[in-house]
Amino acid sequence: MSQDQPKTPSRKPAWLRRSLPAGPNYETVRALLKNGRLHTVCQEAKCPNVWECFSRQTATFLILGPRCTRDCRFCNVQHGPDGPPDPEEPRRVAEAARAMNLRYAVVTSVTRDDLPDGGAAHFAETIRAIRESIPGALIEVLVPDFQGCADSIRTVVEARPDVLNHNVETVPRLYPEVRPQAVYARSLELLRRVRETAPGIPTKSGLMLGLGERNEEILETLRDLRAADCGILTLGQYLQPSKEHLPVARFVPPEEFEELRRTALEMGFAEVASGPFVRSSYHAGEVYQSAGLGGSAPASDS
Ligand code: SF4
Repeated sequence: MSQDQPKTPSRKPAWLRRSLPAGPNYETVRALLKNGRLHTVCQEAKCPNVWECFSRQTATFLILGPRCTRDCRFCNVQHGPDGPPDPEEPRRVAEAARAMNLRYAVVTSVTRDDLPDGGAAHFAETIRAIRESIPGALIEVLVPDFQGCADSIRTVVEARPDVLNHNVETVPRLYPEVRPQAVYARSLELLRRVRETAPGIPTKSGLMLGLGERNEEILETLRDLRAADCGILTLGQYLQPSKEHLPVARFVPPEEFEELRRTALEMGFAEVASGPFVRSSYHAGEVYQSAGLGGSAPASDS
């Protein structure tokens, strides 16, 4: 952390304070995931919506192990080496998705720079397993950058996810501090490449706000995403998972999120979810539906 970096403001503003009692499904979902030896980004990343989403019987599966080979400064997922992909994991994810009655499943992973394909084949296998288990379900994958490997991206695209999501996370100036092992241009290139090779697959990306980015930098990033033909956007407030992580530079008021949503829609995004608690998988099925990009309406979503 640089010396002139701001400290997280000591008190959360009123719009970020909420107490949501867990609904009756919360424990059921937790037990289902535990019994299936499955991980979710909801739990590993300490998502503030976990009570709500589990209670709505939704979750975002985190495949390829609970440890990430990168060390992004905003992320709560553990860092370190992990073993080879578990060949049974795609089946267990599919079984859990069916038990949860998901009509819109979201699957993400840690970044596995140690694997030759970055885990792309495992993603593809998981997509196929869910398809087989729940015919007609829509599947969104939130993928890492695969270090820009075209073959890996093709492997995932060929499994035909209904949405391919890849987050740029922040504005390029903040990459060295926020995502030191990532490359902004590489992330944009991934999104562009997906649209070029599979124009039928909508792409989605998102940013966390409150890390010190300036408004003009946000707008420039949104223009870059549109230039890469990214169709769905999510904007949410960064929250510091622990004192070891980057501090929050600013709590962005809900009105600013709303203003950015309007601006982004004017830029041509098909749908924009923007608000303090928005995460890239928050109400993902509804966001997809609102974008009007095809597919049947999911009965429940994550
Ligand atoms: S917003 Fe996404 S990551 Fe957070 S709890 Fe809901 S499904 Fe999980």
